[in-house]
Amino acid sequence: MALLEVRRLSKVYSDGTTALQDISFELHNGEFIVIIGPSGAGKNTLLRSINRLVKPTAGELLFKGQEIVSANASQLKKHRREVGMIFQRFNLIERSSVLRNVLHGRLGYMNIVRAVLSLFSKEDKDEAIRFLERVGLGEQVYKRADELSGGQQQRVGIARAIAQKPSLILADEPIASLDPVSSEIVMDQLYSICKEEGIACLCNLHQVDVAKKYATRIIGINNGEKVFDGRPEELTDTI
Ligand code: ADP
Ligand code: ADP
Repeated sequence: MALLEVRRLSKVYSDGTTALQDISFELHNGEFIVIIGPSGAGKNTLLRSINRLVKPTAGELLFKGQEIVSANASQLKKHRREVGMIFQRFNLIERSSVLRNVLHGRLGYMNIVRAVLSLFSKEDKDEAIRFLERVGLGEQVYKRADELSGGQQQRVGIARAIAQKPSLILADEPIASLDPVSSEIVMDQLYSICKEEGIACLCNLHQVDVAKKYATRIIGINNGEKVFDGRPEELTDTI
């Protein structure tokens, strides 16, 4: 069974903008799929539909066989625990420590109060530190998130997503705010950690060269439509 099945998904926003038209694909365990397409293509809408921050207008989303488009609040809560998010602008709690940011991932956003009140176990804390060491931030654990460079903040974002123990990570333009050197470190870490942990990844990018380097499969979208779906080496420069 596919981890995620996207069936004829469409999204028309309330102002009449069609962001997605009839998108279908399957994602299997262990895949690292890169979605490429120009700005406005619908990449962000697609990722936000998958964790249901956006409600699709038509179509189905099956995650581990469970229908997500019509899921109720408690099903959605469970779904979002299984799907980690990495954001273009990191979305860290800037005034919190690096460690607390990762603990928020582990405890879940609903338990943010527990994390703020330090109501986490030593086991939670040790594990969060291990994830931070994994992304090379073992020395930065007690720093404030906003004291870190952009690349380091995104590595906290990776640690936070992994700490949630997801089976899928959705990464929305994770390197769009970063310089080339930091971008390479972030993509290398995201790719290798997903591989080692057996986490599937769906990653939005607009850089074709970066997509080709990491993707096990590339899906191209343009004007809300799927225009390519294949192996990186099959991708020509025409899309
Ligand atoms: P809400 O979900 O709070 O009602 P919207 O759905 O209108 O808000 O917008 C969600 C996000 O998309 C916001 O960050 C908004 O700035 C952004 N947004 C709204 N309209 C557009 C647009 N035409 N193109 C791109 N982004 C948009
Ligand atoms: P991408 O991530 O590829 O840049 P988006 O999914 O952000 O594409 O946007 C796809 C289309 O939907 C664009 O035309 C954008 O302006 C529009 N759009 C995005 N969010 C909203 C929104 N909340 N309300 C209305 N239109 C939106």
